[in-house]
Amino acid sequence: MKFVRFSVNSKISKGIIEQQSIKVIEGNIFDQWDYTGEVYLTKEVKFLAPLEPNQIIGIGANFVSKVEERPTTLPDIPVFFFKPTSSVIGPEEQIIIPGENEQVKFESELAVVVGKEAKNIKESEVFDYVFGYTVANDVTAPQYFHEAGHWTIGKVFDTFTPLGPVIETDLDPSEIRIKARLNDVEKQNSGTELMIVPIREMISYLSSVMTLKPGDIILTGSPLGAELIGDGDVIECEIEEIGTLKNSLVNAKDSVTTT
Ligand code: MG
Repeated sequence: MKFVRFSVNSKISKGIIEQQSIKVIEGNIFDQWDYTGEVYLTKEVKFLAPLEPNQIIGIGANFVSKVEERPTTLPDIPVFFFKPTSSVIGPEEQIIIPGENEQVKFESELAVVVGKEAKNIKESEVFDYVFGYTVANDVTAPQYFHEAGHWTIGKVFDTFTPLGPVIETDLDPSEIRIKARLNDVEKQNSGTELMIVPIREMISYLSSVMTLKPGDIILTGSPLGAELIGDGDVIECEIEEIGTLKNSLVNAKDSVTTT
């Protein structure tokens, strides 16, 4: 199923896409929900980020360019970082390049949506706790990486976590390709077999450290090919089975706040 959030006439709703329609639902997508009977056409709504995440956790530098380059042993402590929920935007919203900077980096990623509370789960159990998957752009301003190695500021600006367009619950993440197109030119296109820390190991490890909760999102890392982009560029992150997450960029000084 493809879960979405959307707005029509400023009213925000949740629903499930079936062909060209959205059947509206109410309730908690991770627990109990029901159809309301309302139906919209996909073309008459504005898609929002498909959920309001509980927490957003990213993993750093998680792809090689060829399977033969995968390390034979996994890192003892993978590089994880957090992104704030305030950085989330939806499809078609603008990514704002902060301050006086001219460029930020795009990173097309598979985002895992946790569906159940998970603590100390085994690798073999991980997919029992996954609700579904969406596409993320882990926008990054490397200019703000601290010389001591901290990435935090470079990852957390408002608009730095586009998500969407849907949460796909029927997906085998071992058989997908993560792509990005910059102004219609392909920049990323890699399969998930190139992940250094695979999803099972990643989530099992995380659950040994912290309790994962429904609505947590794990950004699984970006394939090779991410690059710096600037004002006026259009970036499309795509996983065919989920959809295309398209955003344009604007300099902070030129952006119009529309709250
Ligand atoms: Mg990333």
